[in-house]
Amino acid sequence: MKIAILSGKGGTGKTTLSMNLAYMLKHAVVVDADVEEPNLELFLKGHVERTLPVFKSYPVIDENKCTLCGACGDFCVYNALLPARKGVLIHKELCHDCGGCAVVCKQGAIHYEDRSIGTLTERKVLDYQSLYTGRLSVGEVSGVKIIETLKEIVAEEPFVLIDSPPGTSCATVAAVEDVDYAILVTEPTPFGLSDMKMVVEMLQNMSIPFGVVINKAGIGDDSVTLFCEINNISILGEIPFSKEYAAVYSRGGLLAEERSEYQDYLREMIKHFPLDIAEDAVGGDR
Ligand code: SF4
Ligand code: SF4
Repeated sequence: MKIAILSGKGGTGKTTLSMNLAYMLKHAVVVDADVEEPNLELFLKGHVERTLPVFKSYPVIDENKCTLCGACGDFCVYNALLPARKGVLIHKELCHDCGGCAVVCKQGAIHYEDRSIGTLTERKVLDYQSLYTGRLSVGEVSGVKIIETLKEIVAEEPFVLIDSPPGTSCATVAAVEDVDYAILVTEPTPFGLSDMKMVVEMLQNMSIPFGVVINKAGIGDDSVTLFCEINNISILGEIPFSKEYAAVYSRGGLLAEERSEYQDYLREMIKHFPLDIAEDAVGGDR
């Protein structure tokens, strides 16, 4: 069973919910797929078991064979190859590793080499739960390869919790693809609703069942609630806005560990997941 946690934008409380659900769902393997800004490890702490580089291919052109015909540049929709008068300019970071340019090059002038685009770290956290963190290197534009690698590693795990990138980018699609259920975190404001709508559309297009968690309930208005009611979207729970919760977060604390009522919010929420989660898999006492 794979559950993804996502949001329309940053700052909605997605990471807070992810880390606290990780605490409550004690049999879950946790994946931090928010590769541009992974920070679950700051809260779940633990110790590093291993760190591996993640590689991606890029094209290399043999100038002795290249006739500057331009076919590779015409083929590459990502503009990673720009044939110029004196040679083909290669923008490695734009390459999506599709392999097509070598196929269209009639001169056999293109081969591929690997380069590191980030890392993947395995940690043991809490009661020896595994946390896998993907981290995209500064300057890289796509974390899809890192997310795919993370998902390959946990493919055989029976219960996986994935903290996805926010928004509806290719990275978010890669993170939520094939999950059994998605939890969409939003805040009850017009901005929250606007960003949430795009994610709702994405999840519906991908036929992924999902429910909504309203974070910072009490601020804003009831537009998110109304939208969910009209569109028959399940609201899994509401977490009230609290300055005290913000203070726990800002010093790196876990709300589920420190606040019993927060545990109660999560227990109620988990009951609303349309999933077969065993009662003994949910625990707040460590
Ligand atoms: S397709 Fe091959 S021959 Fe043509 S410009 Fe690209 S590398 Fe050169
Ligand atoms: S492998 Fe694909 S994405 Fe990369 S440069 Fe070639 S055509 Fe473009």
